[in-house]
Amino acid sequence: MPFHLDDEQQMIRRVVSDLVDKTVRPHAEEVDRERRPPEEALEGLREVDLMGMLASADYGGGADTVTFCVAVKELAKGCASTAALMGLTNALATLPVDLLGTDEQKETWLAELTSGAKLGSFALTEPNAGADVSSLDTKIVEDGDAWTLRGQKAWVLGGPLADVHLVVARGPEGPTTVLVPADSEGVETGPPERLLGLRGAQTSPLYLEEVPVGEDEVLGDAGEALQQLAEPLRVSRLAIAACATGLLEASLAASQDYADQREQFDEPIRNFQAIQNRLAGVKTAASTARSLTLKAADRRDEGQPFSSQASEAKWRATEDAREHTRSAIRLHGGTGYMREAHVERFYRDARTLTIVGGPNQLHRQRIVDRMY
Ligand SMILES: Cc1cc2nc3c(=O)[nH]c(=O)nc-3n(C[C@H](O)[C@H](O)[C@H](O)COP(=O)(O)OP(=O)(O)OC[C@H]3O[C@@H](n4cnc5c(N)ncnc54)[C@H](O)[C@@H]3O)c2cc1C
Repeated sequence: MPFHLDDEQQMIRRVVSDLVDKTVRPHAEEVDRERRPPEEALEGLREVDLMGMLASADYGGGADTVTFCVAVKELAKGCASTAALMGLTNALATLPVDLLGTDEQKETWLAELTSGAKLGSFALTEPNAGADVSSLDTKIVEDGDAWTLRGQKAWVLGGPLADVHLVVARGPEGPTTVLVPADSEGVETGPPERLLGLRGAQTSPLYLEEVPVGEDEVLGDAGEALQQLAEPLRVSRLAIAACATGLLEASLAASQDYADQREQFDEPIRNFQAIQNRLAGVKTAASTARSLTLKAADRRDEGQPFSSQASEAKWRATEDAREHTRSAIRLHGGTGYMREAHVERFYRDARTLTIVGGPNQLHRQRIVDRMY
C-alpha cells in the first residue's frame, strides 16, 4: 500500500524540492568533482531551518520522523553528500544531545546545532573497530580526578566541518559518549578521506591526544553509551535509507528523460523492451525503498518498535540503489559513464551508502535476530 503524506509533510517536501532546484543540484557536480563541502546547500538548509529537524520543538526542531526522511530523500535527489551531512548530523549529533543532554549541555549546544550555526559529528568507528563496536581502543584515562581522552577515530562524516564531536570511548565504567569541542587541546582532524562516493560529505579521521574531559562533557550515563545511542543509530539507518531512495528517484527521472530523447534505429530507445525492463526495475526499487523507509519512520512516530524495520529499509534501499543506479548507467549507454549525465555519481554515492551505518550483512543478521 502506498504511503500518503499529510498536508504539512507535503509542504516541507515542496520547500526542500525548491531548495534542491535552486541551490543544491546546481553545485552537486562541482562538490563531487572537487571533494569540497556543499557550502551553498548547507546555507540554504540553515535558511529554511532544516539542520535540526529532529531536535525537540523547544530548541527549534519538532519535525516527525516521516517528514525528516522525506526531506533527506528530496535532498539526495540533488546531492547525496548534502543529504548524508544533513541526515546523519541530525540523527547522530543533534538527536543524542536532545535525548541525553543535561540542561546545561542543551543550553551550550542544542540551539546552535538546530539552527545550523554549529555542526556536530559522530565518532564511533575506529581503524580497528568497525562492525565490532565492542572493541573500541579509544580510552578515557583517569588521572586522579581528571579525565583525558586518547585514541583515533575513522570515517567521521563532516569531521573537518564540525564544531563538536560526539566521541564514543572506553571509560572506567564502559563505553561512554563525550562531547568534545573541535577546538579543544589535543584534537586534530585529518584531511577528508578520498572516497568512491559521498565526496562532499567530508569524511575524515579524528586524532585525540590527551584531550582533557570535564565531567560536564559526558553525554548520558557513563558506561551506557551503546544502549543509549541505540535510538539515534536506528534513526541514522532511516536517514541512509532515505538517501538511497532519493538516489533511486533521481536515477529514474534521469533514465526516463534519456529513454525519451535518445533515438536509435529511428525511434526513442524507450520503445525497446530491454530499456523498459531497466525502467521498470528502477521504478519498482524506488517505490519499495520509499515504502519501507517511510513505514519504518511512521512506526517511530507512532511510538512502536522500529529496529528491524529500520534495518530492512537500510539494507533493501541501499542494495537496490546500488543495483539500479548501475542499471541506469547502462541505460544511458556511453553517456552514462560521463560526469555530465550524473548517473555515474548516483552509482558511486549509492555504492558508498551500503557500508555507512554498518555493513548490510549485520543488518540482515539484526532482522533475523528479531524474528526469534
Ligand atoms: C562514507 C562513510 C561515512 C561514515 N561515517 C561514519 C561516521 O560519521 N561515524 C562513524 O563512527 N563511522 C562512520 N563510518 C564508518 C562505517 O560505519 C564503517 O565503515 C562500518 O561500520 C564498517 O566498518 P569497517 O569499515 O571497519 O568494516 P569491517 O567491520 O572491518 O568489515 C569488513 C567486512 O567484513 C564484514 N563483516 C564484519 N563483521 C561481520 C559479521 N559479523 N558477519 C558478516 N560479515 C561481517 C563486513 O560486512 C565487511 O564486508 C562511515 C563510513 C563511510 C564509508
